[in-house]
Parts: sequence; structure tokens; C-alpha cells
Amino acid sequence: MEQPHPGRASADEEAQILEAIDRWVEREVRPIARKFDQADEYPFELVEQMKELGLFGATISQDYGGLGLSASCYASLVTRISSVWMAPTGIFNSHLIMAQAVERNGTPEQRAEWLPRFATGELRGGIGLTEPDAGTDLQGIRSTARRDGEHYLLRGTKTWITNGVYGTCFAVLVKTDPEAEPRHRGMSLFICEKGEGFTVGRKLKKLGYRSIDSAELVFEDFRVPATRLVGGMEGRGFQHAVGGLELGRINVAARGVGLAKGALDDALRYAQQRRTFGKPIAHHQAIQLKLADMATRVEAARLLVEQAARKYDTGMRCDLEAGMAKLFASEAAVANSLEAMRVFGGYSYSVDFDVERYYRDAPLMCIGEGTNEMQRIIIARQLVERFPA
Ligand SMILES: Cc1cc2nc3c(=O)[nH]c(=O)nc-3n(C[C@H](O)[C@H](O)[C@H](O)COP(=O)(O)OP(=O)(O)OC[C@H]3O[C@@H](n4cnc5c(N)ncnc54)[C@H](O)[C@@H]3O)c2cc1C
Repeated sequence: MEQPHPGRASADEEAQILEAIDRWVEREVRPIARKFDQADEYPFELVEQMKELGLFGATISQDYGGLGLSASCYASLVTRISSVWMAPTGIFNSHLIMAQAVERNGTPEQRAEWLPRFATGELRGGIGLTEPDAGTDLQGIRSTARRDGEHYLLRGTKTWITNGVYGTCFAVLVKTDPEAEPRHRGMSLFICEKGEGFTVGRKLKKLGYRSIDSAELVFEDFRVPATRLVGGMEGRGFQHAVGGLELGRINVAARGVGLAKGALDDALRYAQQRRTFGKPIAHHQAIQLKLADMATRVEAARLLVEQAARKYDTGMRCDLEAGMAKLFASEAAVANSLEAMRVFGGYSYSVDFDVERYYRDAPLMCIGEGTNEMQRIIIARQLVERFPA
């Protein structure tokens, strides 16, 4: 029998967790998704249930109190939740990107201090990279940290930060040497707990991905102890931040698969119930073509995600695979949500059905964790690197 890696969950444990997630999704998530999305209301109760399920420690090693799930299991878990409601996965995923940055790059003291608190959800938060003038061009950020004795003073503004309002702790990317060339050598990542000088600017209103707080974070000479510089050395922050993006992209891709599947499931059910010209619309060829394309996209996207996650689990570099999965699955989510709208006809425009939510939620997956334009560039660069002429 295959032995789990130290700190990682066994196959049995992973199967049990996926079963628990399926039950939780049907019992707790599905019944409230439409109401909370439409009210843009924060799902406090779901967050408490996520803590009990261990989701805030899903990918954190068991050595630090996490579940120690593999990327493959984690992707499956995210897909299952997203097939019903994608938004809540952002609550724990952004948090886990922060945790992963500490687990992979932190000093032993930082791992021991922060990871157990992240794993229980006692401290929750996310990752602060994007700024009003810099998203894709991350090296163009302007936030700075200036050393002041045993502390650093952080100044700047982050925007679009998931969990910004209700989260209390964030991994924040800043420049410790704004003049450095190349620019990434002057960047550092800090673990920042909210306090004096670290405030929420405003909660952002969004097309979709509602209920989940996205916010501006403002740092005004925020004093952070030097012990909270991830890895203890300046100039490594860019690598720490982009190093976490492979798992982040697998997660976004898994969300895409889930959403594409949710749209397919609803369309398939509706097409067998709705009748025109004396038969269910599922018997009209024009609708059959849509259902076939939707189902094929879901399967293709799922296989790409599984492939990327399996490679990630071996510890091998997988930016090509994660990029392909993210690109294809997010576009599948957009395409399937639009096709589901067409299958539902006029009712797709009604807030009494979920397809309008899928349609509003899907485009986010084309933007987050690196836009799909950038994924294509990453894929092409990797092709050239792996297959030189
Ligand atoms: C709901 C939501 C949640 C988010 N959560 C977080 C979070 O928790 N933490 C965080 O740090 N950020 C978060 N983001 C920000 C997100 O990561 C950025 O929006 C994304 O990286 C794109 O950056 P930008 O918006 O500045 O677009 P820009 O970088 O301005 O890009 C604009 C357009 O130009 C294209 N483009 C840019 N450069 C190139 C190039 N070299 N070649 C070709 N095309 C290019 C892009 O693909 C895009 O189409 C979130 C965003 C949203 C909408």
C-alpha cells in the first residue's frame, strides 16, 4: 500500500474528507447560495463550519495541525464546492496561499508560530499583492517597507484583496529596496496582522463572486516586527509570491471545472423538463449540441486539472500544466455559463435560477491568479524552454 508523505493525509483520510464535503455542500451550502449571493451577505455560519471541517488548514501539513491534503484532493474538494457555489472557496483558498507562502519559505520559527493558528482558522486572511497601479506587472508595485530598528514601517495601498474586510492577517508584498535592479530583487513579503496603521480602505462592489469580501487595504507607517519578514531575508518576496501561484492556479482551474459542471448539471436537468413543440428541448438537436459541448469541456478541463495537480504533488515544476488547466477550465466556465443561459431561454435572466449567478461568477476565473493572456504567455515560454529547437 502507498505510504503517505510525512505530514500529508492518507488516501483513506482524503476520501473521508471528500465525503464530508459532499454532505456539507448539500446540507449547508446549496440551500443558502442564491439568497446570500443576491444579498451580497457574508456567510459567517459557513465560515464557522469551514473551521470545523478543517478547510483553513486543508493544504497545511499535519505537523502544524492542518489536514495535509494533496493538491489532487484539494482540487477535487474545490471543484465539488464550486459546482454549487464558487464564491466560498475564495474564503479558504486565499488564506491557504498565505499559509503556503509561510510553510514553503518561512523560517522554522515562523512556521511554528503562524501555521497552527492559520490551520484552525483562529487567524484568517489572504495574500496582498495587487495595487491600484500594478496587477499583472507585479514588480511595478509601489508599497514600501523601511527598516526602523527591530521593525519595518509599511506604507502603501493594496486593492482587490480577498478576505480584506473579515480577514485579520495577510501576507503582503512590498518593496524593501525600490531602486533595486532587476526590480524583483528589492521585493519582500511580510506577515501582517491588522492593527494600528493597517486599515481597510473600502469594500469593493462586484459583478459576481459576491458575499465574499474584496477590499482595499491601506498601510500608513504600519509597524511590523522584523521577525515577520518571510524567510528572514529581504529581496525574496517576489519568488515567495509567485511560487505560490502554481497551487493558486490549480485552485482557480478547479473552481472553473466546478462552475462549468454546475452550469451543465442545471442545463441538462432543465432541458429534460422544459418542453417545446411537443417534446423536451433536450430532444432538439440544437440543444443536444450545446449539452454535448458543455459536457466535453467539463471532462477535458477536469483531466487537465488532475494532471496539473498530480504533477504538483510530485514536487515537480508544473507551471505549464497549471497554466493550461487554468486557461482551459476558466474559459470552459465562461462558455458553459453562457450556454446554460441559452438553454434556459428567458428564465436564464431570472434571479430565481442559478444560471445567472454562474454567468456573473465565471469571468473572475479568467482574471485571478494571473490573467488568461498571461497564462498563454507562460505556456508558450515553457514550451520554448522545454522543447528547444
Ligand atoms: C474578485 C477579485 C479578487 C482578487 N483577489 C486578489 C487577492 O486576494 N490578492 C491580490 O493580490 N489580488 C487579487 N486580485 C487581483 C487580480 O490578481 C488582478 O486583477 C489580476 O492580476 C490582473 O491585474 P490588473 O487587474 O491590474 O490588470 P492589468 O495588469 O492592468 O491587466 C489589464 C489587461 O492587460 C493584459 N496584460 C497586462 N500585461 C500584459 C502582457 N505583458 N502581455 C499581454 N497582456 C497583458 C491583462 O491580461 C489584462 O487583460 C483579485 C481580483 C479580483 C477581480
